[in-house]
Amino acid sequence: MKALGLYLHIPFCVKKCNYCDFCSFPGQGREVVEAYVDRLCADLKAKSERAGDYLVDSVYIGGGTPTILTQAQFAKIGEALHDSFSFADDCEFTVECNPATGSPELFKALREIGVNRVSMGLQSIHEKELSALGRVHGVKEFYRTFDELQSAGFTNLGADPC
Ligand code: SF4
Repeated sequence: MKALGLYLHIPFCVKKCNYCDFCSFPGQGREVVEAYVDRLCADLKAKSERAGDYLVDSVYIGGGTPTILTQAQFAKIGEALHDSFSFADDCEFTVECNPATGSPELFKALREIGVNRVSMGLQSIHEKELSALGRVHGVKEFYRTFDELQSAGFTNLGADPC
């Protein structure tokens, strides 16, 4: 079988950072986000007919801020992925996380759909610089979320521009 890597984009954020050049839209309503997740899942399922020759060895859910999604929305995405593709035993499954988002419950739900790596960004350890960049979190939130991720079993945390 051929190896396949999947990238899923979640184009929503709490607020637009001052330096951001990514495709992301702040402050979208629940209905918009839900409709996007449903469309994404439908697209994944539509690809399943062509996925038979492939073994997924990497999944990356980036953004935007994927951890703005709810547990139920991640459960939908996980179901669509697992219904549509075959996965390598050692598949790396990453989700990007903004330190201002997520919760112990959400991180546990990520583990349940197979996420084994989180990429969380910290642009500075100085509050004034974070504020100047327009980030929605401070240094304390980063460490709190870092601890919550570790408690949920994520011990492979990577650096990320978001
Ligand atoms: S969190 Fe990342 S994607 Fe969202 S606005 Fe900030 S830099 Fe852009």
